[in-house]
Amino acid sequence: MQGPVRDLLQQRLTEVRGRIEAAARRSGRSAGEVTIVAVTKSVTAATAACLPELGLLALGENRPQELWKKAAAIPQARWHLIGHLQRNKIERTVPRVTLIHSVDSLRLLAALDEFGRRTQPVPILLQFNCSRESSKQGFPPEEADILAEQLPHYPGVNILGLMTLAAWQENPQDTRPVFAELRQLRERLRQRTGLSLPHLSMGMSHDFEVAVEEGATMVRLGSVLFAGLEATSAES
Ligand SMILES: *Cc1c(COP(=O)(O)O)cnc(C)c1O
Repeated sequence: MQGPVRDLLQQRLTEVRGRIEAAARRSGRSAGEVTIVAVTKSVTAATAACLPELGLLALGENRPQELWKKAAAIPQARWHLIGHLQRNKIERTVPRVTLIHSVDSLRLLAALDEFGRRTQPVPILLQFNCSRESSKQGFPPEEADILAEQLPHYPGVNILGLMTLAAWQENPQDTRPVFAELRQLRERLRQRTGLSLPHLSMGMSHDFEVAVEEGATMVRLGSVLFAGLEATSAES
C-alpha cells in the first residue's frame, strides 16, 4: 500500500505547497515562514508515516490518546497537540510533543506551568475563540488584557504565540476577519507582555490561503492532504 498512497500524498503536498507559496507572495511574505502541520486524525499510522518520508515532519492530532498511539508508531515526527488537553493527561502528553496549540483556560495554563517548573518550560500557544461560537474552546478575545497581566506568573510555559479555530464559511474570504483579529490580538499581547509570540496557528484545509495572507506561521491541514485515505476500522 505504501507506493500509491505515498505518491498521492507527494502530489497533494506539492500542490498545497504551491498554494501556500502563492498566498505568501500575494501578501509579501515568504513561504518559508509557514509550517504545514499535517493533521492525521482521519488516517492510520501507516498512512501518516508517509509524511516524514516526504520531508513533512510536523504532524498533529487533536486527541491526546490518539497522539500517544501515533507518536509511538512514528517517533521520527514532531508531534503537535491541536485539541483540548485535560489536566490529567499533561504528564503523558508533554514529553511526546513539540508544541501544544490548544491552551484554552487559565486552569490548564497553571497546570502546565506547574509541570514545566518541575521539568522544563512547556512550549505552548494560547487558543483564542475569535469566532465566538459557544461550542468552541479558547480564551475570549475580550479577556486578552487580563490574560496579559497573568502571563508573567507562569515561567513554566514558553508561550510561542496564538492559535484559533475559525468557523467554517462557505466562502473562505469570510473567515479573514477572524484571522486578522488573531494577528491583532498578538500585537496587543506583545505590547503588554514584551513576549515576541512568533507563531500564529490558523487556517485549515478550506481556508489556509486566507490565513497565510493574514500572517499564519502554522497551517493545520487534514482533508486537503488525506481526503479519500480514511482509516479503516481495523487499524488506527
Ligand atoms: C481536524 C482539525 C484540523 C484539520 O481540519 P481540515 O479541515 O481537515 O484541514 C485543524 N485543526 C484542528 C484543531 C482540527 O481538529
